Amino acid sequence: MDDIQLQKLVEEISMQSFGIPFKHQATFNKRLRTTGGRYLLQSGNIEINKKYFDVHGEKELIGIIKHELCHYHLHQNKKGYQHKDQDFKNLAKSVGAPRYCTPLPESEVRKQPTMYHCYRCSKCRFLYKRKKRVNTNRYVCGKCGGRLIKVDVVENSF
Ligand SMILES: [Zn+2]
Ligand SMILES: [Zn+2]
Repeated sequence: MDDIQLQKLVEEISMQSFGIPFKHQATFNKRLRTTGGRYLLQSGNIEINKKYFDVHGEKELIGIIKHELCHYHLHQNKKGYQHKDQDFKNLAKSVGAPRYCTPLPESEVRKQPTMYHCYRCSKCRFLYKRKKRVNTNRYVCGKCGGRLIKVDVVENSF
């Protein structure tokens, strides 16, 4: 499935389940990690996690689209569009959408090597990226023996 097919599917679901056209854009976003999709308040567009579709298939995808369309239509109509709002709960229930953007199973998330712990040598400034935490009291720079300093976690994507 590509963006064009996704757009078509979102438009169809919007008409079938909500009876209102979806007039913005729906695209797959490869950078989304733990959520199935998101509705962008500023642009009105919807982004869907491609990985979610690959893992869970079309049935789950339709659930996510319905969920995002709940955000979309409520926000476009200036109603309570957040998960905690009664409007949202009611609409999600009436169209059979999951109330939350269901996260991917933990194992699927972990497979993506995106989070790193980063350490910089205080002497030679070499940057180390490690998937696991490093005890900086025990480990020193492999090049010069300098002390390692924890720097902000860098995400490869997003
Ligand atoms: Zn949501
Ligand atoms: Zn060093």
